[in-house]
Amino acid sequence: MSFYDRTLARMSRRQLMNAAAVLGTAAIASPIFSSKTLAAPIFMDYPFQLGVASGDPTPNGVVLWTRLAPKHLEGGGMPAINVEVEWDVATATNFTNIVQKGVAVARPELGHSVHVEVTGLEPNKEYFYRFRAGNEVTPTARTKTAPAVGQVVERMRFGICGCNNYEQGLFTAYRGMAQENFDFIIHTGDYIYEGRDNGNRTPDTLVRRHNGQEIHTVVDYRNRYALYKSDPNFLAAHASAPWLITRDDHEVENNYTVVDENDIPPEVFALRKAMAYQAYYETMPLRSAAIPKGPSQLLYRRLQFGDLMDISLLDTRQYRSDQPCGDGSKTGCVGINDPKATMLGAEQEKWLFDNLATVKAKWTILSQQVPIFMRDNIKAAPDAQFSMDKWDAYTVARQRLMDRLKETRAPNPVALSGDVHLAYAADLKMDYRNPNSETVGVEFTGTSISSGGDGLDVGATWDTIKGDNTHIKYHSAKRGYTAFGVTQNEMRAEYKIVDKVSVPNQPIRLGATVIATSGKPGLQVA
Ligand code: FE
Ligand code: CA
Repeated sequence: MSFYDRTLARMSRRQLMNAAAVLGTAAIASPIFSSKTLAAPIFMDYPFQLGVASGDPTPNGVVLWTRLAPKHLEGGGMPAINVEVEWDVATATNFTNIVQKGVAVARPELGHSVHVEVTGLEPNKEYFYRFRAGNEVTPTARTKTAPAVGQVVERMRFGICGCNNYEQGLFTAYRGMAQENFDFIIHTGDYIYEGRDNGNRTPDTLVRRHNGQEIHTVVDYRNRYALYKSDPNFLAAHASAPWLITRDDHEVENNYTVVDENDIPPEVFALRKAMAYQAYYETMPLRSAAIPKGPSQLLYRRLQFGDLMDISLLDTRQYRSDQPCGDGSKTGCVGINDPKATMLGAEQEKWLFDNLATVKAKWTILSQQVPIFMRDNIKAAPDAQFSMDKWDAYTVARQRLMDRLKETRAPNPVALSGDVHLAYAADLKMDYRNPNSETVGVEFTGTSISSGGDGLDVGATWDTIKGDNTHIKYHSAKRGYTAFGVTQNEMRAEYKIVDKVSVPNQPIRLGATVIATSGKPGLQVA
């Protein structure tokens, strides 16, 4: 049992005792509603059912998050008033040495979420935190600051994950991530799925179904996030380390760009985007820079980890041009070579290209959503079709990125991606049609936590279906997450596999270890 499990267990016992003493019928009871901010609320139900999270560590701080939601699946259940939430940061789980504390205000405008941007902490150090409102307290959670810029760092460990469809499988992989004690965790997007209750997609015995219809309003999105956060493994993974959150499509709608996939008028889709972005901000440990401005939300950002890693967190969804040839999987689409097509948008592309010229760390990391490396012509697909939603369908923009990696000689470029519910490790090439062309970086694509269900054993068939894609060094179609160990000399990716997400309490096994070595082009499978 982790400290998180222990405090959670204590909490639920105390919760039962409290329940008997509460009066009234509202979710929150208070004698005085006239004061602007309520300091000592009494809750009918436990208000911290959505757990806690931390994110975006810097050398002196981190963002702490929680949201008051005693009726978490029914809009939150809070009255429309401000409520005070206290927070503590300590160096040990028993909170004998509290180093920072304060009071934040949970506001109805933001679904009573709380984002505390803590400062004054020491670099590269583990901390523990908790929130309190009235008599209620959250479980204790762990976080960690980043090493100081330029600080010599021998080793760090982080994990990447994404695509956790609640209906299609259990979040067993998050249990594994929670036990890793990572320095940080990157989520590559698809944190929720927007679709309606599709019937029982998991086996009958599990009955994990979406709540309600396809989500459109702020309250719909809040309730869907709350459903996903009803999974204790998901909460435990959040409580284990700071997260670097990025977003893909399903936090709004499948494969959206400036337009939606159903061709509703863009000005109407913009309203839905604005609501989805608000609920996203309310749910994530993000800084105030990420408060949405209508249908626009600044999520691309740069985080540095001493002299070891320089991470550009990209947004490949919000600013891209529409998929060519009507999206879907196609073959022979000339639109994939459109020189005007963009994956990042002009502003973000310039920002990234400037970043690449100024990296001082050992590893240059581009954390993003959809795979960059070529997956054209993989023979598993009928008629060699491939997805119009990935960098494969934005070839001119991809070439600009490859050219820029070559031109800047950014140290040891490593791209991270998700989205495709498949694991890959691949070399980034100047010319994917020519295996002898220069390798300008490497890419690790994490598989899904649960999306797509149990997955397939590709095994020996991979060698015959991978066709001309000799730059792809590893592939798996199983579920799980990827654990990275990073030193000055190498980046070692361990692909962790959960064989069945349709069965509870399954073990997690090592699928493969793939290694990038500093100064040496290309990947090796260990
Ligand atoms: Fe997905
Ligand atoms: Ca996606």
